[in-house]
Amino acid sequence: MNKKIKINKSVETGLKELLISLLESRKIKAVFTLERNKDAVYYSLITDLEKVDQASPFLPFMPANGGKLLSKLTDIKSISEPIAAVIHPCELAAFIELIKKQQGSLDNLLIISSVCPGVMPINNISETNLDEKIKKYFESAKNSNIPTGLRENCEICSRIIPTNADIIINLMDKDIDNSFELYINSEKAEKFLGDENGEILDSDFDFANNTFPQNIKDIISQKEKNRIAVNEKYKFDQLGMDGLIDLFGKCIGCHSCGGVCPICYCELCDFDSAEHEYKKNVLKSDLNSRAGVRLPPNTILYQLGRLNHISTSCVGCGMCTDVCPVDIPVGMIFSSIGNSVQELFKYIPGENLEEANPITVYKKEELTNFED
Ligand code: SF4
Ligand code: SF4
Ligand code: SF4
Repeated sequence: MNKKIKINKSVETGLKELLISLLESRKIKAVFTLERNKDAVYYSLITDLEKVDQASPFLPFMPANGGKLLSKLTDIKSISEPIAAVIHPCELAAFIELIKKQQGSLDNLLIISSVCPGVMPINNISETNLDEKIKKYFESAKNSNIPTGLRENCEICSRIIPTNADIIINLMDKDIDNSFELYINSEKAEKFLGDENGEILDSDFDFANNTFPQNIKDIISQKEKNRIAVNEKYKFDQLGMDGLIDLFGKCIGCHSCGGVCPICYCELCDFDSAEHEYKKNVLKSDLNSRAGVRLPPNTILYQLGRLNHISTSCVGCGMCTDVCPVDIPVGMIFSSIGNSVQELFKYIPGENLEEANPITVYKKEELTNFED
């Protein structure tokens, strides 16, 4: 689109004023955004102007994957009145993957997202020096550094540009405390924004078409190097069965990782169904043949099933690692294996709404050079 609106306010104040103005003019009916209350951070759907003013759209946390929540809001039928949603790029990517699976719709949604510096692990929320940490986070971002203390997945995430958002905000801009730009990335955004939001100017950047500031390119390249280093160190995508058994050896089978994963959308996961209950007769025969059975059973089978179902769509958000009670780096494992599978199929989850997920397409001649 190559259009922008320059706003001479700090990014947080300016965005909240924009959301309030859209609400007041009835262009939108509600705002979906992050809120912080003491040591709790959560997504809210807000209609009240004062509450929007108290929201924290760019707080560096992801208490739930917003794409999963938007899917729940929109999956039965499209919402009937417009909502503005402020989400991270990986949440938008997850949402697009869900839409491809008929689990949501972009109708009546104005998606606002940012060039993303990353988020912190959710358990940091109750730390006493949190405000200081958040301040340092934004200082790093505006000085084009990768903030410290991020989720592991964010340290290796190079898909930090929300190419499908209607409005893109660059949080890695040194002037962010005084002024910022709203990059208009869709015709929908053009319709929502009017003269009252600022003069529409030409922009040098077109984020959706890979034209953006050099400092962002440098960060992306650093993150790609981080990913390669992690892959070389842990070789998550070459674990084999023994490696997986070692890594998931301490899994307690709570299924929290699947519960929070935006891509695991089934109302009843097959692995939670009666089909997978460990029946007494199976237990008895397993005991007879193996003389020892680990309980709860099927912890590895669950992860293999999830890998099989979601590898092409894993957006590397790291929600799964955040909730694992025994500190298994689930998100790094899924993201690394997912990345390998996605490279194999030349598929980037969330990149193109029109492109079918390879898992849903049957080609007679496929992977003909693939060995093993
Ligand atoms: S995984 Fe990437 S897009 Fe998602 S919060 Fe982290 S850095 Fe941002
Ligand atoms: S597997 Fe983990 S990292 Fe991948 S999309 Fe699901 S929650 Fe996010
Ligand atoms: S969250 Fe952790 S312990 Fe629970 S099922 Fe997933 S890997 Fe296992």
